[in-house]
Amino acid sequence: MSNFSVVKGNIVNMKVDAIVNAANTSLMGGDGVDGAIHRAAGAELLSCCRRIGGCKTGDAVITPGFKLDAKYIIHTVGPVWNNGLTNEEELLRQCYKKSLDLAVEYNCRTVAFPSISTGAYRFPLAKAAEIAINTILEYLEQDTCIEDVYMVCFDYNTMAAYNKVMRALGREVEEDY
Ligand code: ADP
Repeated sequence: MSNFSVVKGNIVNMKVDAIVNAANTSLMGGDGVDGAIHRAAGAELLSCCRRIGGCKTGDAVITPGFKLDAKYIIHTVGPVWNNGLTNEEELLRQCYKKSLDLAVEYNCRTVAFPSISTGAYRFPLAKAAEIAINTILEYLEQDTCIEDVYMVCFDYNTMAAYNKVMRALGREVEEDY
């Protein structure tokens, strides 16, 4: 049995086996959570990402965590919202699935996600929260090495949107927003 919870915080401080980065196709760092992770992990992360060379939208790659507490960073590229015209919902689902596949491949027991695509990539928050939570919960129905998955919300709006989906599914919320 694995647990899923929505928590408030900064993903770089999570003490888990793997944190997920909402990266871009270049893997060369950027704003938002990507920038925060690159700053906290240190310059070696950029060299490592440069060697990998890039990642397609909806796909994921893994690197060491370098200076982070997390052992690994799973970099996934969320879709840029385009009014739902370019398969964004399925691509977002793939981000969560492929990230969890990599976590399993690398024997991770604990994994933390940020809210992929809902910042600079403008994916509507309520829809993204529903996709994220349902995809993760469905994945966790399988018997894998994963014990705990955290959705780490950086701001009030994000936390409220994810909690709303949790309540609609009849699940307990950890922090009341
Ligand atoms: P994207 O380009 O995929 O939209 P962003 O980084 O712009 O990615 O935003 C994704 C989400 O990550 C947003 O909810 C943003 O508030 C959040 N975020 C930004 N910094 C952090 C952080 N340090 N930890 C967790 N979430 C963060």
